Amino acid sequence: MGKLVLPEGKKIAVNLGVDFDAQSLWLGAFNMPSPAMMARGEFGAAVGVPRLLDLYARYDVKTTFFVPGHTIDTFTDACREIQSAGHEFGHHGYYHENPTKIERETERRLIELALESFDRQLGIRPRGYRSPYWDYSESTLDLVEEFGFEYDSSLMARDLVPYRPRRWKVHWERGCVAGRASSVLEIPVNWYLDDFPPLAYVGGLQPGMQDTETIFRRWRDIFDYGYQRVDGACYAPAVHPQIIGQAHHIMWYERLVDYIASKDGVWFATCGDIRDAWVDDDDDQRLQELDDVRGVEEAPVGSGFR
Ligand SMILES: [Zn+2]
Repeated sequence: MGKLVLPEGKKIAVNLGVDFDAQSLWLGAFNMPSPAMMARGEFGAAVGVPRLLDLYARYDVKTTFFVPGHTIDTFTDACREIQSAGHEFGHHGYYHENPTKIERETERRLIELALESFDRQLGIRPRGYRSPYWDYSESTLDLVEEFGFEYDSSLMARDLVPYRPRRWKVHWERGCVAGRASSVLEIPVNWYLDDFPPLAYVGGLQPGMQDTETIFRRWRDIFDYGYQRVDGACYAPAVHPQIIGQAHHIMWYERLVDYIASKDGVWFATCGDIRDAWVDDDDDQRLQELDDVRGVEEAPVGSGFR
C-alpha cells in the first residue's frame, strides 16, 4: 500500500487523459479498415485534437495523451502539436491491438514497434503504458515491467486512488489466489469515465449517442465523491478526440472542466506527475525528499494529505 502525497494545499489529482487512437481504433479494436472509418479517425487528428488543445490551454491543464505508434506514424504533426503544448505521452500499443488476442512475442514486438515510433518521430520514450483495450493478457504486466514502464493505466481494482496491481492465480472451482504486487504503479481507469462506450456510434455493435447531460452528471458525481470523501484522491477520466471533439460533446466536457477548475485544491496533473507523487508506506526517505522539494514543514493536522 501507499498513498499520493499531493502538493501543499491540494486535495485531488486530476488527469484529464486522452486516448488519441485515431485510425488505429478502427483497425485493432474493430477490424474496420474502410475509408469511412479512416475518415472518422482523421477527424480525431484534424478536429478533435485542436479543440482539446485549445480547451486545455484555456484552463492551463497539462495532461497525458496515450497514443498508439500507428497514430504517431500517421498523424505525426498532430502529435508534435501535442508535444509542443507541453503534454505528456503514454504508450498505447501499435495498432490498438487487443493483448488478449495475440501471442506474447507479438505483444512484445508491437510494444517495441511503438517505442521506435516515439523515438523516431518525437524523440521521447514514454514513462507509462495504457493497454489499447484496457485489457491485459497473461503476459502484459510482465512486459510492462520488462520494458521499464513506471506506471500503468489500464486496470480497475480501485477507482479513485492509485495502487500496486497484483497478479491473480485464477482457479475456477476453488478461490483465486493473490500473487505479488507489481513494482509498477497503477493509475486506474474506469469504463464509467470513458466517453467511447456511451457516446460513439458503431453500426451494428454499439448504439452510442447517449444523452450528454447524463454523462456530464455521472462524471461530475464521480469527481465530487473523490473530492469530498477520498484522501489523496486521483480522478482520471479518458476521452477520445474523435468522439469528445464532436461539437456537442466538447461543450459538456468544457462544462465539466470548468466545474472541476472552480474547486479549491484541484491539482491538474499528468500521469507522470501522479507517479512522482506516490509514496509507498515504508518509504520514509521518499516522503522526506518530497517534503524538501515542496517546502513542507509540517502536515496540517487532519488534512488527510499525509
Ligand atoms: Zn485506445
